[in-house]
Amino acid sequence: MGPKYELSEDFAIKMDAEDPIAKFRDRFYLNENEIYMDGNSLGLMSKDAEKSLLRVIDEWKRLGINGWSKAEVPWIFFSRELAKLMAPLVGAHEDELTIHSSTTVNVHSVIATFFKPDSKRNKILVDELNFPTDRYAIESQLLLRGLNPKEHLVVVESKDGRTLDENEIISRMTDDIALVFLPAVLYRSGQLLDMELLTREAHKRDIYIGFDCCHSAGAVPHKLSEWGVDFAVWCNYKYLNVGPGGPATIYINRKHFDKGPGMTGWMGYVPEKMFDLLNEFEPAKDAGGWQIGTPHMLSMAPLEGSLKMFNEAGIENLREKSLKLTDYMMFLIDNKLYQYGFTIGNPRENNRRGGHVALEHEDAVRINEALKEMGVIPDFRQPNVIRLAPVPLYISYHDVWLVVDKIKEIMDKRLYEKYENKRGIIA
Ligand SMILES: *Cc1c(COP(=O)(O)O)cnc(C)c1O
Repeated sequence: MGPKYELSEDFAIKMDAEDPIAKFRDRFYLNENEIYMDGNSLGLMSKDAEKSLLRVIDEWKRLGINGWSKAEVPWIFFSRELAKLMAPLVGAHEDELTIHSSTTVNVHSVIATFFKPDSKRNKILVDELNFPTDRYAIESQLLLRGLNPKEHLVVVESKDGRTLDENEIISRMTDDIALVFLPAVLYRSGQLLDMELLTREAHKRDIYIGFDCCHSAGAVPHKLSEWGVDFAVWCNYKYLNVGPGGPATIYINRKHFDKGPGMTGWMGYVPEKMFDLLNEFEPAKDAGGWQIGTPHMLSMAPLEGSLKMFNEAGIENLREKSLKLTDYMMFLIDNKLYQYGFTIGNPRENNRRGGHVALEHEDAVRINEALKEMGVIPDFRQPNVIRLAPVPLYISYHDVWLVVDKIKEIMDKRLYEKYENKRGIIA
């Protein structure tokens, strides 16, 4: 068998012409002369998301307070409507999802729910590569219970600084561990963990397990319910394009509805009785119980249009194109950039990588700056990673070709040398 791809620009254009989901690109706001490779940090705005947002703004104008009950999708139940649209993307039942708050707060909420330390099991197992906010939240949950994180937080280390070894994680699931919390896809290297295996192994040992799916939701299909994952959280402003700071998602497996939320508020009340305003809390009998306060309507509304588009495109089709885009990008990097000292930091196997390529270089900060000047939006992650996310809804094969070509030009002409070897405050 010959190589799967060719190096020419024409080949990229031909792949776009044959791409069955290429048409979705026209529904996004893309800037001319700019290639957006940062959809895993902040997804772009679609016309569909804009439309559902404008509808809610209009409802506010026309209906005022009555929007809670009389809007096209009554605001009070908006999260439940979104849950129906979200469920197929992650393999959940719709009653297992609540769209609410931020990921960090939702980490607090799931730990508050599932971590019930006793004399035997009183430790939480995490890893050293997850995005640090999750760890901050978990440590604060330990401190709230009077437990010392140095003793009660067990941290799996990475051997190569990029990836985690599932067998190593499993070997740390000892009988003092109450709960495991891991990323589905690592934010830096893009490694996709074997969630099904880890869930099975945790449960064999009577340990709860949950995942942070910030870098996988909307990029990688999951089967959260089928695998029996106990809980999960994720942001909707990355691959799912809800918009900056829009509310996050919390997943609670049906088998745990009876636990009730660890962090409570009136919006988690049994829906029919919420407005009885009784002093005794009675949580909804599904994931709705994990809602705490009033829905963030204006920042949540874009998700309706966005999720409908995901369902129209199909998460399996999106994953297929995403894998092809990153595979093609790696092919171009291997063949066009091999002489400049780059390393591909993400796993190469399809079942072990998420939606982005982690391009490593000792001058990554400066190359990243040069890329920005050439109209590419990448993102830099400490200490040496340029993350490139070719998001399948709006990035083309030609975009990928152009990005690699620009990197080659930067290296050939040493265009990065004029920048300082220092990153900005926001990376
Ligand atoms: C992006 C991201 C977050 C962000 O959390 P916020 O509360 O939305 O700021 C948390 N965890 C992971 C793993 C992330 O990738």
